[in-house]
Amino acid sequence: MNRSNISRRKFLNTAGGATLSLAAANFLSCSRDKSEQKPNIILIFCDDLGYGDLGSYGHPTIRTPNLDRLAAEGQRWTNFYAAASVCTPSRAGLLTGRYPIRSGMCDDNIRVLFPWSAGGIPESEVTLAEALKTEGYATACIGKWHLGHLPRYLPTNNGFDYYFGIPYSNDMDKVRNLSMAEQMDPKTEEFNVPLMRNEEIIERPADQNTITERYTEESIAFIKNNGEKPFFLYLAHTMPHIPLFASEDFKDKSLRGLYGDVVEEIDDGVGRIVETLKEAGIEKNTLVIFTSDNGPWWTYMEQSGSAGLLRDGKGSTWDGGMREPTIFWWPGRIRPRVVADLGSTMDIYTTACRLTGATVPDDRIVDGMDLSPALLESASSPRQVMIYYNGRRVFAIRKGPYKAHYFTKTEYIGQKEQKHDPPLLYNLNHDPSEKYDIAAQHPEILADLERELDKHQKDLVPGENQLIKRIE
Ligand code: MG
Repeated sequence: MNRSNISRRKFLNTAGGATLSLAAANFLSCSRDKSEQKPNIILIFCDDLGYGDLGSYGHPTIRTPNLDRLAAEGQRWTNFYAAASVCTPSRAGLLTGRYPIRSGMCDDNIRVLFPWSAGGIPESEVTLAEALKTEGYATACIGKWHLGHLPRYLPTNNGFDYYFGIPYSNDMDKVRNLSMAEQMDPKTEEFNVPLMRNEEIIERPADQNTITERYTEESIAFIKNNGEKPFFLYLAHTMPHIPLFASEDFKDKSLRGLYGDVVEEIDDGVGRIVETLKEAGIEKNTLVIFTSDNGPWWTYMEQSGSAGLLRDGKGSTWDGGMREPTIFWWPGRIRPRVVADLGSTMDIYTTACRLTGATVPDDRIVDGMDLSPALLESASSPRQVMIYYNGRRVFAIRKGPYKAHYFTKTEYIGQKEQKHDPPLLYNLNHDPSEKYDIAAQHPEILADLERELDKHQKDLVPGENQLIKRIE
């Protein structure tokens, strides 16, 4: 049986299970209060949005009133990490709850998937959408996928009922070499990226001027069509990854130039989605999560985002590359507060499974941790350790406030890596900008971090490298 048949059978089995669960849910809804229904989950994932790019995270001139309101009414996390510092491995970590080294969705040199890539997310991985399907969820992926664009890797073969979006980065498929000046004043037709609905290309080049608006419209339509049953909406914005585009209503409106226009349009879309939930009367049964895949891409000067006072950006294991602005909102359920405990996008997987009754796979190591006690009961986060991978290699580790760097590399492209022996050591609570190395004063902390790393590496089985495979 070839792989697409296996996928189809898997899908049919899942669909059958979904029908049963839905029948059960309908029965239960007759006897239970609406608040006991399984929660809807909306996961909004930006591309290259920096830690410092929202008003509620300290940006002085980007206005994000809708996200700021969610942050005030919900939880705003200040030590929350993406699974990697670039798109593909970060998204693999998000949707599998596992460090991307385990699924093979990372490489030291080819950092992300490209239009020539033949690899993608292995079928053996259980995506969050696949896990939630077993609980009767309607699922949609709207936006950037970047986990493989060949048919078998697409969202519709990985647990999503519906897909609408650009399957990889919006700066790919360039029609010619563009100078930096041209990239800073982009024309959408210069990037011949496809826009897909399910497994069909419906527009090429995708008109990126309206892409953020269309993702919002698609999200709203999906919510309206699924208000009666639990749903999982994964809205992975193409923006603010360069080339930047905003629709007419937002162009030249922000104080922060085009980058600000783009972020303000995303914020407006969040507001419209929340409004839709309220109109449908389902906001009290919906968990909304907002975060980003990696830090700001500094190469693009003022069209790059900001990591605030964190050091460096995209592609780097300095904190600016991986720490993300992260908001959880669920009115009446989430205790409003600012949380300085550690969390990771991988934890969204395990938390969503726990909140919905879905099973976290027990035949493999899942790195995600259950944050629901922290979200619902103000308990501490269970996460104590975060490991920072650059491709397939560990560059740094954090435990509590302390972070040790074994290697560092600045920015995404063109910089040489540096080895540190002894490692650099920072206290990120005291020194969030990673300026003052305290390794000499704390050999015992370095030794403890070393033990944590040994624990992680002892059982590690790296997945087959998916990023080096090329279409013949
Ligand atoms: Mg990215």
